Amino acid sequence: YDDRDGFIWMDGELVPWREANVHILTHAMHYASSVFEGERAYNGKIFKSVEHSERLKRSANMIDFEIPYTVEQIEAAKYEVMKANNLSDAYVRPVAWRGAGQDMGVASARNPVRLAIAVWEWGAYYGDAKMKGAKLDISKWKRPSPETVPSHAKAAGLYMICTMSKHAAEAKGCSDAMMFDYRGYVAEATGANIFFVKDGEVHTPLPDCFLNGITRQTVIGMLQDRGVTVHERHIEPGELEGFEQCWLTGTAAEVTPVGQIGTYSFEVGALTREMAEAYEKLVRE
Ligand code: PMP
Repeated sequence: YDDRDGFIWMDGELVPWREANVHILTHAMHYASSVFEGERAYNGKIFKSVEHSERLKRSANMIDFEIPYTVEQIEAAKYEVMKANNLSDAYVRPVAWRGAGQDMGVASARNPVRLAIAVWEWGAYYGDAKMKGAKLDISKWKRPSPETVPSHAKAAGLYMICTMSKHAAEAKGCSDAMMFDYRGYVAEATGANIFFVKDGEVHTPLPDCFLNGITRQTVIGMLQDRGVTVHERHIEPGELEGFEQCWLTGTAAEVTPVGQIGTYSFEVGALTREMAEAYEKLVRE
């Protein structure tokens, strides 16, 4: 991803892609003082753009720093960098972090806070699983308690267990992993929220120790508009066997059907297909 033409927005200006570098003593590199967003633009318009910028600012506050740009400035920067790279359908990746500076220890209050925004083309996150249903491994890692980490921050440090889970899943031929939480309830995948269908009703884990995804909230609204009952609640592992359908939601994943989690199988049923199609339509409206 580093050796290509194009521009990346960094601290207020457009920098040639290959020159968008940071110093090795960047605080974020050593202590994970970094937050980011994942957004998608469709036909030149970023879906829920302001919500993502607001979440970026909130994530930074949750890990104790302030991004020195307003939501309006971040909005303008995202569109500026899309234009500079001549992209209208794109993945948008803002990242904010504590940089290099006077401090090089756990504390870094005097180091500058930096912001960069990159955009690139990115197709279906789970490839052809989009049609057939993704195969998920069950991770050995558990989502930690909100007393241990700021669970609702989209913070780089919280992705360490996601990367380990996803690598283990891929080594077993799966596209992703489902994680349980610290209490043993079903939580989410490594970059997406999870939904289940049973007897015409939808069940999805209560996001009390992981990201309440923007796509998750959008899909819940779409289901409610259709008169489908949605239960947001704690889901026990023993319930997996009884669910008929399953899908993942996320900016990158969009709505992706799940065919298998560990030894449990799900059908790519009518409601799953309807939500995947309806979401695809909504993001381009
Ligand atoms: N959980 C995790 C761990 C994620 O990385 C993401 C992607 N941001 C989500 C859930 C879904 O969030 P959203 O729908 O806002 O993209």
